Amino acid sequence: MSDLSTDVRYIKGIGEARAKALSKLEIRTLYDLISYFPRTWEDRSALYTIDTLPLGEAGCVRAMVAAPPAASHIRKGLDLLKVKVVDDTAALFLTFFNQPYLKASLQVGETYVFYGKAEGSLLRRQMVNPQFEKENVRQITRRIMPVYPLTAGITQSMLQRAVRQGLDACAALLPDVLPDEIRLRYQLCHIGFAYENIHFPTSMEALQIARRRLAFEEFFLLCAGLQLLRRRRAVLSAFPCRKVDMEPFYRALPFPLTGAQRRAIDEAIADMCGAQPMNRLCQGDVGSGKTMVAAACIYFAVKNGCQAALMAPTELLSQQHYHSLNALLAPLGVRCALLTGSLSAREKREIRDKLAAGEIDAAIGTHALISKDVAFASLGLIVADEQHRFGVAQRSALSAKGSHPHALVMSATPIPRTLALIIYGDLDVSVIDELPPGRQKVDTFAVPSSYHERVFRFLRRLIGEGRQAYIVCSLVGGDDTVPNEKKAVTDYSRKLQAEVFPDLRIGCVHGKMKPAEKERVMAAFSAGELDILVSTTVVEVGVDVPNAAVMVVEDADRFGLSQLHQLRGRVGRGKHKSYCILFSDSPSDQTRRRLKVMTQTNDGFRIAQEDLELRGPGDFFGRRQHGLPNLKLADLQCDVEVMQQARSAAEEMLRADPALEAPAHRQIAEKIRTLFADAGGGMN
Ligand code: ADP
Ligand code: MG
Repeated sequence: MSDLSTDVRYIKGIGEARAKALSKLEIRTLYDLISYFPRTWEDRSALYTIDTLPLGEAGCVRAMVAAPPAASHIRKGLDLLKVKVVDDTAALFLTFFNQPYLKASLQVGETYVFYGKAEGSLLRRQMVNPQFEKENVRQITRRIMPVYPLTAGITQSMLQRAVRQGLDACAALLPDVLPDEIRLRYQLCHIGFAYENIHFPTSMEALQIARRRLAFEEFFLLCAGLQLLRRRRAVLSAFPCRKVDMEPFYRALPFPLTGAQRRAIDEAIADMCGAQPMNRLCQGDVGSGKTMVAAACIYFAVKNGCQAALMAPTELLSQQHYHSLNALLAPLGVRCALLTGSLSAREKREIRDKLAAGEIDAAIGTHALISKDVAFASLGLIVADEQHRFGVAQRSALSAKGSHPHALVMSATPIPRTLALIIYGDLDVSVIDELPPGRQKVDTFAVPSSYHERVFRFLRRLIGEGRQAYIVCSLVGGDDTVPNEKKAVTDYSRKLQAEVFPDLRIGCVHGKMKPAEKERVMAAFSAGELDILVSTTVVEVGVDVPNAAVMVVEDADRFGLSQLHQLRGRVGRGKHKSYCILFSDSPSDQTRRRLKVMTQTNDGFRIAQEDLELRGPGDFFGRRQHGLPNLKLADLQCDVEVMQQARSAAEEMLRADPALEAPAHRQIAEKIRTLFADAGGGMN
């Protein structure tokens, strides 16, 4: 007997090795297997006679084996099996490469259906490696077939067969989380029908019906989960703030704030004066000045008599924030401290003591802030910088150090607003859509790798003028091999040092380095002690080295547009004219289009929009960084209508049954809990 939690090895043909390969696709149980949805579908419905088979296209023919298959061994590693098949209209010549065992399954005089691409000429049609089965079986021919994303060691037909068996074994056991009432009202099919037809649709129409149902369910659970989070927050009472005079803060700034910065600050202050904790995402392009918004909120909170904490993803970034905030806020009477892992035990203890005693007003630091032994006297505001680097779980760990503190999260990953509202549905959003005046555009070029020599000459010239440069390598290696980040970066920087720039100071950083070592190299670069920093995308986040004027990205086609934009944001931060050079030899049109977008605009929002259109939201967010469940099937761009229906269905359900206690809703509550827990969102 099998059930949904049965191990995939239950499936015929899946042994130890294949199970291991499948686990790379996160497929471990039968439920995982049948929930592994196709990437696309191949329509094999059309049946032709041999004489009407269109050349160059794939199709099915029903034909009889006319003569015994002829096997021949050409050389080591090349075996051919040739078979002549016929129908009433013509003959078709089949060739199978390296599949001698098929000989036994092709009986003379038997009729089969073959699916493949017809080649040759009108007089002599042939097919290479067609798929086939006995006529009337219709398991792999004369129907619509799923096409799955694969991994090494797993082939398409292997997975198709496995899913078929998985569905037969347990599709009937799938619980339907959607209550009948909702299913009927929104005309959604049963779960069993949906699973069967998302994999092996009986028609295109059945596929649409199945897809709609599954997309609805995903949106429904996501929206319901987000609303539960929001409600939970609504019953919390926040640290009560009242209006304070912000003029001293504004007067202390070395520059007037942009309108967008002012607006974001006003929105946050209004939130903090409310009865519930603020939960706001402040989103703005690289260099839009989010730090000042954070500074204003910290000033406001501290003047209201509570403490504030700002958490940044790296040590270097924390230090930069500490230095700029301390310089600004200390003269205004805000006592700031830096708390990171690299402090000595004594320094840490001293800061912890002062935080607990309320003698520090603003703590700025890394994850060290959420370590167990850090306590605050009265934490009223938390700020998370570069929010996409933290999971929701880390954010809530910091929150837990106070009693429902206000939360401001800042992100430079510019997400189109509509999308942000859905994904960060439990957050309010401020958008900083204006850069401080006088920013210059970073001139961007996309060039083939034959330009290396010219680009290196150009780097040398700029470095001669006193500038610094970043060179970012991608993780070389195909999709299936484990990329060796350390090797890619160290080999490349050695090569540059030895062959191209023997006289320059080159440093390198990669994600496999110990944090302290990485920080040391970054700090050396920041201090101007290195001319060139070779790295992986670890430099992507917020570092500010105004003297760096060139960003070179190798194999730029391997990066997402938003990521390239982040990388480019590392230069053009000072008064020097800056450049970004994107190397790519990819012949693909789409790649060329994407890189062209980079050369045409410096607007992160436009780039994000393009990225979304070209790659889809799954890639856009990176994996699991937002702490919300991933959408497997639902598409935020195309399924807007389904999303709206699912959202209102979720709202209605929660209005009637806010805690999801009705028997019909228990499964939903359970499912939401696991979905959000898997995503690290913590729904407990
Ligand atoms: P990000 O949004 O990427 O975090 P930062 O807060 O680091 O941007 O700001 C980038 C740079 O712009 C900093 O050097 C900061 O001092 C400067 N800056 C911020 N706001 C303004 C402004 N209104 N006018 C001029 N410069 C500003
Ligand atoms: Mg920043």
